[in-house]
Amino acid sequence: MLISLIVPCYNEEEALPLFYKEATGVAHTLAETRQAQVEFIFVDDGSRDKTLEICRKLAREDQRVRYISFSRNFGKEAGIYAGLKAAKGDYVAMLDADLQDPPALIPEMLRSLLEEGYDCAATRRATRAGEPPIRSFFARMFYRIINKMSDTQIVDGARDFRLMNRKMVDAILELGEYNRFSKGIFSWVGFKTKWYSYDNVERVAGKTKWNFWGLLLYSIEGIIGFSTAPLALAAIAGILFCLLAFIGMIFIIFRALLFGDPTAGWPSLVCIILMVSGVQMFCLGIVGEYLAKTYLEVKRRPLYLVNETEENLSRKEEAD
Ligand code: UDP
Ligand code: MG
Repeated sequence: MLISLIVPCYNEEEALPLFYKEATGVAHTLAETRQAQVEFIFVDDGSRDKTLEICRKLAREDQRVRYISFSRNFGKEAGIYAGLKAAKGDYVAMLDADLQDPPALIPEMLRSLLEEGYDCAATRRATRAGEPPIRSFFARMFYRIINKMSDTQIVDGARDFRLMNRKMVDAILELGEYNRFSKGIFSWVGFKTKWYSYDNVERVAGKTKWNFWGLLLYSIEGIIGFSTAPLALAAIAGILFCLLAFIGMIFIIFRALLFGDPTAGWPSLVCIILMVSGVQMFCLGIVGEYLAKTYLEVKRRPLYLVNETEENLSRKEEAD
């Protein structure tokens, strides 16, 4: 039995050695208790620091280590996809390099797959403690909105840390879309999932790559990717405005008939025009957002480009 650990890394030179140390401990436990072998797949997402060098070094020293290095930064979602594609394991786990996803949980997660008949063991954070309140507020709003709008339910506080069996991995690989929103994809494919909650852990070293703006864009991506409700909302807004306009027309006709028409109302007219054109632009923006996603999707560009893997390394060394 082989377990693949996929670790997307972007500028993680400080955290990666610590991660490796902790994960090899877990690999040791797995080998002892379950006779399970572990392979590490580090996905270097175009890091600008020494991450790639560390990957090379680990791959040289440890047979179990493989790595994929991208030609530039393609984002964590691409990293996950590349890792899943490369994984040879019967079971595949993906975790962050910063030890915010404790590898020590993997034996327990594996148990629920092997003994309780689950296809996937996923994690979520128990609380949002330690997070700025404004971010918590927006995060909660996001989950409320997306779960109302989309048929794909997304668990509040779900992390990307999960262990899956081969069946589920293959299912995820079949979804080769360009605009990837993992939280939605995991949920969309279905399968029996067991949830583990744990408290938020600070990253061991380095800095988070997310800022508020990035998260906001990511959440919009999630909504666009897994729901077409905004398009329907735009249409409904259109109908509502037609209705309002119709009521307004009747009102004006009767007022003119009863009281004559002194041609007043320019300011209100301007306000109405501004408001309606604002709503129109907004709805057009929604349509544009979907069009943009479709545009990117039909171009069928690859999700990532590989610059180097551990195979290049061993070939190069043989040549030397
Ligand atoms: N990551 C990546 N590519 C990116 C950004 C992040 O592969 O463009 C990796 C990063 O190295 C880490 C994981 O994704 O292993 C999660 O990133 P981070 O810790 O910054 O996010 P947070 O835990 O704060 O949500
Ligand atoms: Mg992190």
